[in-house]
Amino acid sequence: MKKFFSVAALLMVTVLTLVGCGGTADNGGNNKVLKVGSTIDFAPFEFQDETNKEYQGFDMDLIRAVAKEMGMTAEVQNIGFDGLIPALQAKNIDIVISGMTITDERKENVLFSEPYYDSGLTIVVRDGEESIKTFNDLAGRKVAVQIGTTSGDEVHKIAGVEVKEFNTVADCFMELKAMGVDAVVNDRPVNDYYISKSGATGVKELSERLTSESYGMAMTKSNTELQTKVNDALQKLKDNGEYQKIYEKWFGGVEK
Ligand code: GLN
Repeated sequence: MKKFFSVAALLMVTVLTLVGCGGTADNGGNNKVLKVGSTIDFAPFEFQDETNKEYQGFDMDLIRAVAKEMGMTAEVQNIGFDGLIPALQAKNIDIVISGMTITDERKENVLFSEPYYDSGLTIVVRDGEESIKTFNDLAGRKVAVQIGTTSGDEVHKIAGVEVKEFNTVADCFMELKAMGVDAVVNDRPVNDYYISKSGATGVKELSERLTSESYGMAMTKSNTELQTKVNDALQKLKDNGEYQKIYEKWFGGVEK
C-alpha cells in the first residue's frame, strides 16, 4: 500500500511538472520568458558581438523592448532561417524576429505582427563586373541566395538562372568572392551594411531594388493573444519614441 502511494505521488509530481513546463508557447505571453527564434547572421538586424558574444542588432533591441513592454524577458535562440517556422510550429519558441518578410505563403502557416521595417532586395557583384546591372541580367548566370528566403523565391523566377543556396548570408558572400557565383541577391539593408560597415572589399551593391517587402514578427497560427499583445507593445514603442531611438541607433536618420 505504501509503495502504491509513493508511486502515485511520483506520478503526480511528474504530471504537475509536465503541466508546469507545457505552457510555453500558446499562452499569449503569460510566461515571464518570451522564447524568441532568430538567425544570428543578418547584420544590422541580428548578429553576434565579437567581444562579449551577445546577440545584438535592430531586431534584438526591438524584441527586448517589446518583451519588456509585455512584462517579459526575451530569450533568443539562434536557429537556421529555414528552421524558424518549424521551431514555432513545434512550440520550441513563441515568436520569430529575423528580418522575416511578411508573405502570403508564410501567412498560411503563421501569424505576423504589424510590419515593423520596410525592406527590399538588391544585388551584390564583384568590383569590375560590368555585365550585370539589373535583375534581368541575372538570366543564365550563377546566383547565391540564403536558403528559404524571399531572395530565393525571386531569383528562381528568372529564366535560366543557376541558383546556389547557402545556410547563411556570410556563405553567399564567400562564394561570390571565391568566384563560385556571379552575384548575391539579399535584403537591401543587410547588403548596405555589409558594403559600408563591415569593411567588405572587392564587391559592390547595385542600385536597382527588387520588391518592396515588410518585416514582421511571426507567431503560431493559434496565438492571436500574443499577436495582440505584440502589436500593442509595438504601437506603444512607436508612440513613446522608443522605436525611433532604436531605428536611429542602427540606421541613423529618420525611418525610411
Ligand atoms: N527578408 C528575407 C526573408 O524573409 C530574408 C530574411 C533573412 O535572411 N533573415 O525571406
